[in-house]
Amino acid sequence: PLSLLQDPTLLKTEGLIDGRWVPGEQRFAVTDPATGQTLAEVANLGVPEAEAAIAAANAAWPAWRAKTAKERSIILRRWFDLLMSNQEDLARLMTAENGKPLAESRGEVTYGASFVEWFAEEAKRINGETLPQFDNNRRLLVLRQPIGVCAAITPWNFPLAMITRKVAPALAAGCPVVIKPAEQTPFTALAAVELALRAGVPAGVLNVLTADAAQSVAIGKVLCASDVVRHLSFTGSTEVGRILMAQSAPTVKKLSLELGGNAPFIVFDDADIDSAVEGAFASKYRNAGQTCVCSNRIYVQDAIYDAFVEKFAAKVATAKVGNGFEEGVNQGPLIEPSAVEKVERHVQDAIARGARVLVGGKRLGGQFFEPTVVADATPDMLCAREETFGPFAPVFRFHTEEEVIAAANATEYGLASYFYSRDVGRIFRVAEALEYGMVGINVGILATEHVPFGGVKQSGLGREGSHHGIEEYVELKYLCVGDI
Ligand code: ADP
Repeated sequence: PLSLLQDPTLLKTEGLIDGRWVPGEQRFAVTDPATGQTLAEVANLGVPEAEAAIAAANAAWPAWRAKTAKERSIILRRWFDLLMSNQEDLARLMTAENGKPLAESRGEVTYGASFVEWFAEEAKRINGETLPQFDNNRRLLVLRQPIGVCAAITPWNFPLAMITRKVAPALAAGCPVVIKPAEQTPFTALAAVELALRAGVPAGVLNVLTADAAQSVAIGKVLCASDVVRHLSFTGSTEVGRILMAQSAPTVKKLSLELGGNAPFIVFDDADIDSAVEGAFASKYRNAGQTCVCSNRIYVQDAIYDAFVEKFAAKVATAKVGNGFEEGVNQGPLIEPSAVEKVERHVQDAIARGARVLVGGKRLGGQFFEPTVVADATPDMLCAREETFGPFAPVFRFHTEEEVIAAANATEYGLASYFYSRDVGRIFRVAEALEYGMVGINVGILATEHVPFGGVKQSGLGREGSHHGIEEYVELKYLCVGDI
């Protein structure tokens, strides 16, 4: 699939440090999850390269922060234009390494690029403040200054957007970044950064450390231990988030963490059932269920339970599974064999505890799993407690609003939640009671660049996107000027 790029020079297999492509001493293979075949080998960088990247970023910082906001904005805007004019190649790289259907990859390029466009605009609006003086001989001001060298550790499920959502606000604020992309999906990251260089991002301002799983751990330790790195932004599992947080304690690093979810999707009996079926399908089966905002638990109220599960199962039965490059496929492979095993474990556990399979339920060979729906799910099942991260929808039955709010909140996670209702009183009651950073009401998809994305509880810290997203990358400085 990689030989079909319109611009073959976008296929990079080396890391980037201080504006130079670095081959490293070792390489690791990146595979196509749809076929299991090796796509290409990539530089497997480690501790010395991580140290070099941090030093390069630190050296590039003064000139980058000294640029005017408008100069940085123009470079970001050019990067956005290049991402969009290379949309097809980026989408191909993404489908090849991640497996998501080509249409979803094109969508992610648009979504990922939108953060660059948004923060190109926000770069010009990082305003300070003047405050009323407490004494007429003084003047009080607040500056918002770039925090310094930033590190971004990103996952495979959105190979572009999880990078741009961190890098664009950092660059806009005047910070250089060291990126450690997921080992499964380095090509999209490298192509995006190549386009950033073409857009005029100076050497050292963006650095990329490609690495396999073991070297990623080693690089993570260097990034956390460095007191030059002032901010770490991580998207990935809660388990790794906790490790990075602990490792960042000695240097008291500012952290943005976007971790796991266990999204409830609640359908009240006053909902528009057809709309709820569409929303549940979109929310659950995007990226074959491999997003942290995918609904994990579907709760349906008693009176409409049977009607909902029948329509939902019929909808899921129409899903087309296959290689993401094939026309009409809307369910690609899972990212790796262990992901397939987890889905199978959740499905088997649900069946053993009395769930009724309505559609799917089995592996399809390779890294494919049938889109699956089960009815009669109960709280003792693994799928009620853990994030499945795959194409498995367990449907729970509930009776009252209080009961479902308690069930929805009975998790250490708090990222996205969804519910369907036409009752305006209930909409406000339930939205306010859900302990989640994001609530979709009568919608199954809610992310976009100008809204604050993030979670509460053990789903993370901080918000990405929107005008709030820039705050992660600036520090406030209070000036008190006397003798006026
Ligand atoms: P996922 O479940 O999405 O694969 P992970 O949390 O395992 O999420 O991985 C997300 C990112 O974190 C990847 O870039 C991965 O290489 C990196 N990573 C995993 N473990 C560590 C670690 N101990 N230190 C630093 N980075 C890590």
